[in-house]
Amino acid sequence: MALKTQIVVVGGGAGGLELITRLARRFGRNPRFDLILVERDRTHIWKPLLHEVAAGSLDANLDEVGYRSHGHRWGYRYFRGTLEGIDRKAGQIVIAPLLDEDGSEIMGQHRIRYDYLVLAVGSVTNDFGTKGAAEHCLFLDERKNADRFRGKLLDQCLRVSRTMLNDPSQEAFLEVAIVGGGATGVELAAELYNAAAALKHYGLEVFDESRLKVTLLEAGPRILPALPEKLATAAHEELESLGVRVLTETAVTEVTREAMVTNTGERIAAHLKVWAAGVKGAPYLAEIGGLETNRLNQLVVRPTLQTTRDERILALGDCASLTPAGALRPIPPRAQAAHQMAETVAKNLERLIEGRGLQPFVYRDRGSLVSLSRFSTVGSLMGNLVGGRMAIEGRLARMVYVSLYRMHLVAIHGWLKGIAMIAVGHVNQVVRPRLKLH
Ligand SMILES: Cc1cc2nc3c(=O)[nH]c(=O)nc-3n(C[C@H](O)[C@H](O)[C@H](O)COP(=O)(O)OP(=O)(O)OC[C@H]3O[C@@H](n4cnc5c(N)ncnc54)[C@H](O)[C@@H]3O)c2cc1C
Repeated sequence: MALKTQIVVVGGGAGGLELITRLARRFGRNPRFDLILVERDRTHIWKPLLHEVAAGSLDANLDEVGYRSHGHRWGYRYFRGTLEGIDRKAGQIVIAPLLDEDGSEIMGQHRIRYDYLVLAVGSVTNDFGTKGAAEHCLFLDERKNADRFRGKLLDQCLRVSRTMLNDPSQEAFLEVAIVGGGATGVELAAELYNAAAALKHYGLEVFDESRLKVTLLEAGPRILPALPEKLATAAHEELESLGVRVLTETAVTEVTREAMVTNTGERIAAHLKVWAAGVKGAPYLAEIGGLETNRLNQLVVRPTLQTTRDERILALGDCASLTPAGALRPIPPRAQAAHQMAETVAKNLERLIEGRGLQPFVYRDRGSLVSLSRFSTVGSLMGNLVGGRMAIEGRLARMVYVSLYRMHLVAIHGWLKGIAMIAVGHVNQVVRPRLKLH
């Protein structure tokens, strides 16, 4: 019996899950094809929501998607596992031993055959080797880290509250230091004030936003370098009005258990330290399977999103590096890029299988949007109607920001279920607590 054509996608994140859903729509019930998603986690949560998960304003248990049931619905197979190597000669990927919580082996190292392989394994936080950062900072690049942050946040809020109840003359604060004035750092800082304001309704009567001291540290001359200056200034002012201390041109040179040390010699004491200052590919990706990677461990791809040394292996999203012809910089590691690349890879795989010519990926920058929680949203959009870049602020920007996630929901659930999920989200906002407190 002839072997089925096996398409393997590794990584079910913002791009990978959209891709496997598209492929399943096209090939899922076709007996000549076998579609496999390899993913290390059991459930998916859209990564741009992680700062809300960390602050507790979003309950990831309600928004997560279980891969096994999703695969059953769409017609692909889900294998839980962590990619650790590629044997290109044999056309196989190597999956690390699968361990349970106690470290006992569930499944030994094993291999999965592929005819076509797509790598969509995302990125990890880049701490640029800063002394003490890996040891003492939290990185918001995985669900478990966002959950860990929330646990620590709630513990510290309780500590501050108890200290003040035991001795009202004592001033107690929750100090948070965030490295990186990009979207993640800015959004987290604002979200913390939203969460702190809500806590007093849930039994921590003496805790409110005045107990919060957040410092945002940015090495560059201004926060949000991807946004027009006017909007970055608006966001800067909004953060300061909330009470955030925003320090630009301030690089962190060392992190200790108690504080962040800056290039100006200041020690910024912090109970919670977050590093959100850049991303890179995970170390195991460096020259994986002999493929070309850049100095950030990202897989270098051609305009068709095929890797440069193997046309049957494609890559998308944060783990891929593509600098379009004539552009000065590579396509940024953003959810909108992963979303658009998933569409191109799905089409190109079909063309590859049918022996047709592949299409180049064209990145359409829809602009950048940054959510300042319920306080505001700022951003810039490609204003197609007015023929240029359009700066937007406030309610309109919030609507567009929310629509990015809605597009993802529709891409992975289809129109009907996607719209039902959006409606459920609205109902939950009314019937569920405003914060996840466990
Ligand atoms: C807090 C935060 C806020 C953000 N806000 C925005 C925003 O507002 N707008 C925007 O455009 N972008 C935003 N981003 C960036 C955006 O989340 C990423 O660019 C996007 O998720 C990249 O998609 P991806 O599919 O490449 O990777 P991911 O979505 O990270 O998915 C990678 C998947 O691969 C899996 N995986 C990893 N390694 C392995 C392995 N070895 N084996 C098997 N599976 C593996 C992971 O579990 C994950 O499911 C934000 C990021 C963060 C952290």
